[in-house]
Amino acid sequence: MAITTSLSGKTAVITGSNSGIGLGIARELARAGADVVLNSFTDREEDHALARDIAKEFDVTARYIKADMSKADECRDLIAQAGACDILINNAGIQHVAAIPEFPTEKWDAIIAINLSSAFHTTAAALPLMRKAGWGRVINIASAHGLTASPYKSAYIAAKHGIVGLSKTTALETAEEPITCNAICPGYVLTPLVEAQIPDTMKEYDMGRDEVIRNVMLTRQPSKEFATVEQMGGTAVFLCSDAAAQITGTTISVDGGWTAL
Ligand code: NAD
Repeated sequence: MAITTSLSGKTAVITGSNSGIGLGIARELARAGADVVLNSFTDREEDHALARDIAKEFDVTARYIKADMSKADECRDLIAQAGACDILINNAGIQHVAAIPEFPTEKWDAIIAINLSSAFHTTAAALPLMRKAGWGRVINIASAHGLTASPYKSAYIAAKHGIVGLSKTTALETAEEPITCNAICPGYVLTPLVEAQIPDTMKEYDMGRDEVIRNVMLTRQPSKEFATVEQMGGTAVFLCSDAAAQITGTTISVDGGWTAL
């Protein structure tokens, strides 16, 4: 059978997709022909404009649906409102950095809710729709920190290790069906949030841009290059293709060699 990558006729729901990696993945899925549902917890004109721009650029249907991924009922309601969900990208995520004794309980709870529990709730709501459609892809955006650890990021690392485990269980529960579930594990990705940290880090270390990127930000990324949101999108498109139909329950690192160290 010929291997196809066209996603025409498929609907993709991408959580946390009004910026960064989620938006990059939504754009690449739309480029491959998928109709897309963007999401975040805000409801601004510019959020809806992102969907309109994607619809126009790629000639697909694109909508923006507000839903707070820290709330179980809103996670499930996002999938219900989408109406169809052939491709589910669990991407919404936040970070907080502090030593364990000082780590605020509310930050722990928020990170576990948004970075981990939301994926459980959206997956629970999406699997019946995928089964009805006879095809499905669940892609969880984990991290190199889903496979390795760093100090001071206890909640993030627990959540990202957790989502790798959830991906394996989802894969096993759907193994005999045309549904797959995998986790993408990015290293450091150049998102607007990361770009915004560069000037302050340059001041803090009294270094130029290239030196800060190479010797401070990318110390653990052997390629010494950021990954890009387009590369995350391309990896997601590959996982949705026929070529990846037997890839399930695993992790794909897009980390410039981070986890090879
Ligand atoms: P980002 O801040 O640009 O994106 C996070 C997205 O999640 C935003 O759209 C934000 O609005 C959304 N979000 C936050 N809280 C939400 C909530 N309660 N409900 C709904 N949406 C919510 O950051 P990013 O770098 O694009 O991160 C996206 C994902 O990739 C995260 O899961 C992050 O952990 C993961 N990741 C990022 C990197 C990196 O270097 N940037 C590396 C590894 C993994």
